Amino acid sequence: MALVDKATFPRDKACGDLVGPRGLALLAQLGLTPPPDGREVGEMVVLGPTGRRVVLPARAGLTYPGHGVAITRRRFDAWLRDEALAAGAEPVVAHVADLAGPSSVVLDDGTRLDADVVVGADGARSALARRAGLIDPHTVLWGFAYRGYAAQHVERPVIALWDETPRRGFPGYGWIFPGEDGTANIGLGLGLGPAGARRASARAVERFTSFCSHLRDHGLLASSVEERRLGGWLKMGMVGTIAARDRLLLVGDAAGLVNPLQGEGIAPAMTSAAAAASAILADPSTAARRYHAHLRSSAGRFATATAPIHIAASSTPRRVAVVGRVLTAPGLGALVAAPWALLWNDLADGAPPGASRTIVRAALALSRTLSQRSAVAQRLADQFADP
Ligand SMILES: Cc1cc2nc3c(=O)[nH]c(=O)nc-3n(C[C@H](O)[C@H](O)[C@H](O)COP(=O)(O)OP(=O)(O)OC[C@H]3O[C@@H](n4cnc5c(N)ncnc54)[C@H](O)[C@@H]3O)c2cc1C
Repeated sequence: MALVDKATFPRDKACGDLVGPRGLALLAQLGLTPPPDGREVGEMVVLGPTGRRVVLPARAGLTYPGHGVAITRRRFDAWLRDEALAAGAEPVVAHVADLAGPSSVVLDDGTRLDADVVVGADGARSALARRAGLIDPHTVLWGFAYRGYAAQHVERPVIALWDETPRRGFPGYGWIFPGEDGTANIGLGLGLGPAGARRASARAVERFTSFCSHLRDHGLLASSVEERRLGGWLKMGMVGTIAARDRLLLVGDAAGLVNPLQGEGIAPAMTSAAAAASAILADPSTAARRYHAHLRSSAGRFATATAPIHIAASSTPRRVAVVGRVLTAPGLGALVAAPWALLWNDLADGAPPGASRTIVRAALALSRTLSQRSAVAQRLADQFADP
């Protein structure tokens, strides 16, 4: 099996560097222990737009641990690649330039690689997805996020909901997550809605300085953010992407698997890759159909409920400002924190039975019902017709 990547590892990647509980559960299932440099991350503090704070709990589920791990992508991705090589993958450092038939690719030096199946894991701007005609650029839900590091110890990670201007909520959120060796990873990400790439992706970059001032005003940032900053695209909720056809299976960001509510993409990338691998091992000739069916009942189901929420939030700043206030209101904030943590981290499946899980399942069902006639719901339904 050839593992082709244009980058040489270790390489940097724009990220909050937080591997969520489902990602850790998968690694454990595969018998893999991430490098010890990471830091366990459990509950988080949410800073509301008015400065009120709520603690989002982190509870173990039946199928995942009660924490994630903060670890730089330089370290994590290089380690994961090494594990793949140790398991028998053959490294190829090259830019994939094109597809040459259902299961062949051409590298930029003209070399052609033929395989039983091609797995497109080439990120949010996947050239393979584009070349295979699996993307509808007009309906994709884009997000964009930007991050930098600061010399600051982070005791508890922070999620910041922020009014960009008075009573106009920023259509996303900012964060302060633990970095390595007493550093903090500070970022700001936003949803752009359908065809958002045409709008200014630069907004997260432009607003970064104001956002950092906001953190300083609330005593959450004491040092300056280093100039080595990186931004990147998020392709969310699978909208506008057919994830598999014939002998090409898209995984991770290439398939648009980023969580439309909070931008998590590492765990979805790893779990989709594992599902693609199982489908291929069962039978390469029918892998696309099996993989597609798996996504329809997992990430696709979550997306039908949450992609409409993403669209509503990215287009209505006043509503975002109200929701931010409600979620962090005195009394109410503490009450909704547990279901909120399950909902927006996509942790309801596999959560222990209880009030939070029931509330989240009801909220997801309600969102599906209310949005079933929307363009995005129709689009997802069409996509999940058999490949
Ligand atoms: C600022 C920011 C913060 C984020 N924070 C988090 C977070 O804290 N937690 C989280 O879970 N998710 C986060 N995400 C999302 C997460 O980074 C992605 O969802 C995740 O990296 C997806 O993994 P992937 O393997 O699908 O794609 P990528 O990580 O983008 O990897 C794609 C790989 O393909 C290679 N490649 C691309 N094109 C070609 C080509 N033509 N030929 C050969 N190789 C190619 C690239 O070199 C790269 O190594 C964040 C994203 C951003 C932008």
